[in-house]
Amino acid sequence: GAKRTQASHIISPNPRPPQPETSKAEKPKPAEAKPDKADPDDEDLDEWDLMARSKIKELRGVDENAAMQIISEIVLKGDPVHWDDIAGLDKAKTSLKETVVYPFLRPDLFSGLREPALGMLLFGPPGTGKTMLARAVATESKSTFFSISASSLTSKYMGESEKLVRALFQMAKALAPSIIFVDEIDSILTQRADSGEHEASRRIKNEFLVQWSDLQAAAAGKNSSENLRRVLVLGATNLPWAIDEAARRRFVRRQYIPLPEAATRKQHLEKLLSHQKHALTPEDIDALVTKTEGYSGSDVTALAKDAAMGPLRALGEALLTTNPDQIRPMNITDFEDSMKTIKPSVSPEGLLAFEQWASLYGSSG
Ligand code: ADP
Repeated sequence: GAKRTQASHIISPNPRPPQPETSKAEKPKPAEAKPDKADPDDEDLDEWDLMARSKIKELRGVDENAAMQIISEIVLKGDPVHWDDIAGLDKAKTSLKETVVYPFLRPDLFSGLREPALGMLLFGPPGTGKTMLARAVATESKSTFFSISASSLTSKYMGESEKLVRALFQMAKALAPSIIFVDEIDSILTQRADSGEHEASRRIKNEFLVQWSDLQAAAAGKNSSENLRRVLVLGATNLPWAIDEAARRRFVRRQYIPLPEAATRKQHLEKLLSHQKHALTPEDIDALVTKTEGYSGSDVTALAKDAAMGPLRALGEALLTTNPDQIRPMNITDFEDSMKTIKPSVSPEGLLAFEQWASLYGSSG
């Protein structure tokens, strides 16, 4: 998603008191966090951190440094995402509720034939809401949420990555029910890792698959306590075809997250405009919806943000002295101007590739 540079982090399952803006702003971004930060005294610990740390100590065979590293990069970025924050994608939401949220909230109902999947893949063009969906799942399923950007795992922790993968799964089990969300999962589970040129990547991939199989084995030998210790791997990718076949099969659900349809773009635009003074008529909005065919959700957001600058751009230097209530509302011309620079980021050919893959391997909607 939008957070490509992000390091691994966990979102605490327990609702924490909302943090004041200032402390959020001061908190180092995960990407800036020291990669070798493992000293518990460095952090201002809350109850959840302490609980997680004490669990690690109970775990045998977990690399303590790796585990501490995962824990120390805990961040609750921004506000929690709820289903309603995500425009459209109703089928994907339903599928995520059925596959993840309900089984996590009511494990007693989901056994036998209803045994839930241990892997779910969200695939589709960039900027269509895959990361948002994962974050909503985290909020709604009340589970421990481990969120890892695969590229940071492979680049930043080269060498340590296998240990980190092992620690991650062990911690997920200890803190179950858990979701391991891996953004850009194609870069861990890539077919190319087999070609021999990337020995380190191959090892990470193998470790990931071994750990994942262990989960499956544990779930198959299900007794009720195992059932309550669910761990699900939720992957997101813009390159589903890069995932190797063995890995692909483990994602029992493969959900296509397509570009937004007209109704979704409309809902999204209206939501964005609801926070802003504007002079768009319902007809303007309909025209805009038609013109943004091919735009992804993040393209629509980028367009609206750029258009919102229109009234300020019109002021020039006078911006510095103008009273806020004298700034004119946004209008359709602002959008039309912005459309000259903010274009769809997915090409029609690119889209076709997703649709073909979806029809071969995915569930659509
Ligand atoms: P992906 O993970 O599919 O690349 P993200 O979930 O990171 O995409 O979305 C990027 C940004 O685009 C979001 O932060 C949000 O502003 C916007 N966005 C994308 N899809 C939607 C949607 N369906 N509803 C609302 N906003 C969306």
